[in-house]
Amino acid sequence: NDYENQRPKKQRRSGDLRENDAAAAERRRRIDAERRQLPAWAARDKLLALLQQHRTLVLVGETGSGKTTQIPQFLLSAKFGRGGSGKGGLANGSAGGTSHGGASNSPGQGGTPDEAGDGDAAAGPGPGSARTAATAAGGRGHGGGHCIAVTQPRRVAAMTVARRVAEEMGTKIGQQVGYAIRFEDVTSPATRIKYMTDGLLLREALVDPLLSRYRVVIIDEAHERTVHTDVLLGLIKGVQARRGDDFRLVVMSATLDAARFVDYFPGAVAALVRGRQFPVQVLYTARPEDNYLDAAINATLQVHQDEPEGDVLVFLTGQDEIDSAERLLKDRLSSLPAAARMAGVGGAAELPGEEGEGGGGAEGEGGAAAAAAAAAAVGRPRELLVLPIYAALPPEQQMKVFEPAPPGTRKAILATNIAETSITIPGVRYVVDTGHVKSRDYNAKLGLESLAVVPVSQAQARQRSGRAGREGPGKAYRLYTESDFSQLAATTPPEITRCNLASVVLQLKAMGIDDVLGFDFMDPPPRTAILRSLELLFALGALDTSGKLTEEVGLRLSRLPVDPMFGRVLLAAAGLGCGVEALAVVAMVSADNVFHTPRQKEAEWRAARIKFLSREGDHLTLLNVFRGFMELPKESNKARTSWCSDNFINIRAMRKAEDIYTQLVRFMGHPSPPGLGLPLATCGDETTPLRRALTAGLFPHAARLQPDGSYRVIATGRQVFLHPTSVLLERKPDCLVFNELMHTSRTYARDATAIEARWLPELAPAFFAAKASAATAGVSAVAAGAAAAR
Ligand code: ADP
Ligand code: MG
Repeated sequence: NDYENQRPKKQRRSGDLRENDAAAAERRRRIDAERRQLPAWAARDKLLALLQQHRTLVLVGETGSGKTTQIPQFLLSAKFGRGGSGKGGLANGSAGGTSHGGASNSPGQGGTPDEAGDGDAAAGPGPGSARTAATAAGGRGHGGGHCIAVTQPRRVAAMTVARRVAEEMGTKIGQQVGYAIRFEDVTSPATRIKYMTDGLLLREALVDPLLSRYRVVIIDEAHERTVHTDVLLGLIKGVQARRGDDFRLVVMSATLDAARFVDYFPGAVAALVRGRQFPVQVLYTARPEDNYLDAAINATLQVHQDEPEGDVLVFLTGQDEIDSAERLLKDRLSSLPAAARMAGVGGAAELPGEEGEGGGGAEGEGGAAAAAAAAAAVGRPRELLVLPIYAALPPEQQMKVFEPAPPGTRKAILATNIAETSITIPGVRYVVDTGHVKSRDYNAKLGLESLAVVPVSQAQARQRSGRAGREGPGKAYRLYTESDFSQLAATTPPEITRCNLASVVLQLKAMGIDDVLGFDFMDPPPRTAILRSLELLFALGALDTSGKLTEEVGLRLSRLPVDPMFGRVLLAAAGLGCGVEALAVVAMVSADNVFHTPRQKEAEWRAARIKFLSREGDHLTLLNVFRGFMELPKESNKARTSWCSDNFINIRAMRKAEDIYTQLVRFMGHPSPPGLGLPLATCGDETTPLRRALTAGLFPHAARLQPDGSYRVIATGRQVFLHPTSVLLERKPDCLVFNELMHTSRTYARDATAIEARWLPELAPAFFAAKASAATAGVSAVAAGAAAAR
């Protein structure tokens, strides 16, 4: 594994098993010592005692105090995570000794770039289909025992934390500790601690409304108040009433807002874990920055050149931005005279690269602190290692950010707000805060949701700066002025108040919660937003006029692990004989960032793209790419890699798309629930069926061309522009449907396909026929139904 590569050379070369065992044991001892230093440890007994007596514990503690990694292990060792059979002493795990026999489907063992993908591909129809079901709708039982669920708002956190905890417990990921995110389930019947996204636990509640396989549910990062977290909190409140003493809830938060949660859950008790925090010097720019990406790169290089050792954590807004920052930084570094380009881990390292506060019990290598001091005396680190972290990276690359920088080097970690509170990266002494974050925004009046880059809140800015002061005094570079800071909102409103609620409302309906307007939300979303989503679900055919879930469409949509609009595309496609193509398109859209578009090579990638280009739109272009990829020999990694790099296509995205496709195929085709048993036909080279299927789901995003070259969204009248990457830009069709809107300088429609305007009333009669009247009638009927149900 990655760690082995970092061992001093003599051990790596020797290949002596016992020596490797010794190295592993030593590493375990060190990790164990680190763990015991965490503030959470001091509170261990008190927390366990509280949970014996109370059904709900609200735990507040600063980021990095050990909440996420330690609390689940405490609960497990105190038998909260074990049912009757209770096997294996996990608390003091002897290095990975327990049998791995039963869990043949654990994919987390191969070191291949996309583990789950490979696991699935190899699994065939057997255990694989069970896994698919579990991932999509939570179908699998956990071997009679009970399990501890820990929810995370973000996939990266679920994955990296699970890996860390597996390591701490000395087990393989997917065994006693696993994780599950949409389209990827790395758990087994042996799993007792399951890190998962909050969205996935919500899906599981669809088929297991009492969450009966969990003895404890931990809602982590509750302060983030994602829409899924909020809905879960509401559902669990109901579960508690029905499950009684058999069930425990722990709500964990990094901000001091325990009161809100305590008030919400009857009989809840709050506890505080105090963290260590060193002073952080906050620096503002004198003038506003035009381009925060450039500013971030300058700031990072400046830190690298001027400041003593310590890693830099740079907050950016998304994968695209991180990718280009990585390239820009590396370019700039290579043109710097003194700075050698990033070299591999090898180097001429003489001393182990431990970081952190002086050598608490580092056997035989007690020189860590001395080495650090020596390096500091000699000067700043020579090399800068640029390490991105985001969800689409392969796991071993994600884990790289946690490895200490080898002596003489410093890490620059390029992260989204994942690193704000969800994950803590050791070694960070400098923070570069661009002051921006990608955020969901929903205009209920227009019924349009978008992802936009927006300024952070003051609370977020403080959290970000705080990351610099975990291990010693630090510095935070805010790339905005002090007066800009004072203008920022104090906190971020809960996501549920600013997002499209269609899929949440659909899931509540599918759980039998008909009165969505009356649901006990901690912060109720705006009434208009709920009504809008009822209207959309009605227009999609998921609800009938009384607001009840329809069997034919609604029930099926709730089971499909995709957005209801895309779910509707898939259902329509099954009827139109193009299920295969629609699945491929949905898989490609879910995979994200398929095309690699380096600025310096624009001519090349544009040329490469021509052979996939469909005049009819971006979805069909994506389909062509998918087909091209699938024609390559599956077993030849080499062929795939070179095809992708020749065509400026991101191989990770393609592997992901293939994986999602495979899972969705099983899901759609499988005859018994949660499979839908739908026929999967192909329409070959005909495009009309697919474009009609897209229309049947994406019609709320239909737009007409305007004389000035812009488009007008039919449902809302809003003016939008085709995204500059769209293949439709050269010959704009009169009518199109698109996936989503993006706000930058203007509002762009992304991923668009040409359709015929006359298909709209035909495929979405409730929405378009007889203009507004029918839709309005539908809305009021649904709203009346909702009101009647109260
Ligand atoms: P909290 O949830 O309270 O923010 P965590 O449990 O996530 O804290 O982290 C506790 C400590 O464990 C952190 O201080 C961090 O340094 C360390 N840690 C967490 N994940 C990793 C990892 N993958 N590798 C190394 N150290 C880690
Ligand atoms: Mg945490």
